[in-house]
Amino acid sequence: MLQKRYVRFLSGLLSLAFLAFTGCTNSQEQIPVSTPGIPVVQAEVSEPEQSPALNREDGASFSLTMLDVGQGLSILVQADGEYLLYDGGGRGTSSYVVAYLQQHAVTELEWLAASHYDEDHISGLVGVLHTTPVEQALMPDYTTDTQIYQSLQTVLGEKNVPVIHPAKGDTFSLGEAEIQVVGPQNYDYDSDNDESLCLRICYGDFQCLLTGDAEQDAEQDMVASGQDLTCDLYVVGHHGSSSSTSEELLDAASPAYAFLSVGEDNPYGHPTAQTLNALQQHEITLYRTDQQGEVTVYSDGQKCWFSTEPCQDWSAGNQAIAEKPLSTTVPQTAQYVLNTHTKKFHFPDWPSVDQMSEKNKEFTDASRDELIARGYTACGRCNP
Ligand SMILES: [Zn+2]
Ligand SMILES: [Zn+2]
Repeated sequence: MLQKRYVRFLSGLLSLAFLAFTGCTNSQEQIPVSTPGIPVVQAEVSEPEQSPALNREDGASFSLTMLDVGQGLSILVQADGEYLLYDGGGRGTSSYVVAYLQQHAVTELEWLAASHYDEDHISGLVGVLHTTPVEQALMPDYTTDTQIYQSLQTVLGEKNVPVIHPAKGDTFSLGEAEIQVVGPQNYDYDSDNDESLCLRICYGDFQCLLTGDAEQDAEQDMVASGQDLTCDLYVVGHHGSSSSTSEELLDAASPAYAFLSVGEDNPYGHPTAQTLNALQQHEITLYRTDQQGEVTVYSDGQKCWFSTEPCQDWSAGNQAIAEKPLSTTVPQTAQYVLNTHTKKFHFPDWPSVDQMSEKNKEFTDASRDELIARGYTACGRCNP
């Protein structure tokens, strides 16, 4: 695929040499999408000649919109008139997501994807499934016992939507865009967030990376897998939590732009100063929903432009109102902590225990041998 794009880019390069890159129309700058190893052709022109299609918001052959679903995630991707909805936000914004699709004449979704089954990501998908025909669904390969997960399964069944649990390395198409599955690398994680379906979407030379709520462990495994994670636009993992957007991921992805979906005054203290500093250190241009509402990037496969100016507000969420990690309530007699989902046991002070979903977490005073007899295995990282 890379090879093919490279050839396509080269063949276009000759004709492009005579044209000016029109760049990102909202900022006067000209920022063509860079392709490693290929010098960027950039002509000096006083009044760049723009094809009308590039200025028409809905006429762009590719667009990615981060909807403003508050503390949640919902992303609508359009390529050559075909649509993918990745997550639908939480309960409170479900009707807004449905209305957004209707107002933008999205009468059918080629793909509907859930990053993972947390409420702030899938509640809105249930509403969309009730109102919009969906051809196929991409879902991570785990189950959970929440009510919202059951509702999602029910409506997928009622609407006869074929569900695919893709494996890492699988690819799908959306118009001329290629959807690459880059995560999760496995389903052995302690937190459901790490089992987020991570997609790299490539449209010509423009690439976007969507990692849902994947956290450090999953990010490290993606980087270690050697899969190409480079992108122009990175959708900031887990609403800007410090447990995501690791240095390793930013180095591997090396994005120029970031979209951050986060709710104003959310109780988690998102986004964290740590994540915002990392983005700034990598000189990444930021757009964020809590300050700017919905934001869209457009591309023709060679350059990109945005619906609004970059966000200049780098202020972090309020850590003072952030929930205290629940690990402070480890019972005194607890020898180990169990993950009832992965059937692994850990030492109670193991850091990833904080990230473990509460419904899967169980403290125990049982012995090591007892746990093994019950079918549990010792965590390979903390070696209890
Ligand atoms: Zn989330
Ligand atoms: Zn989550």
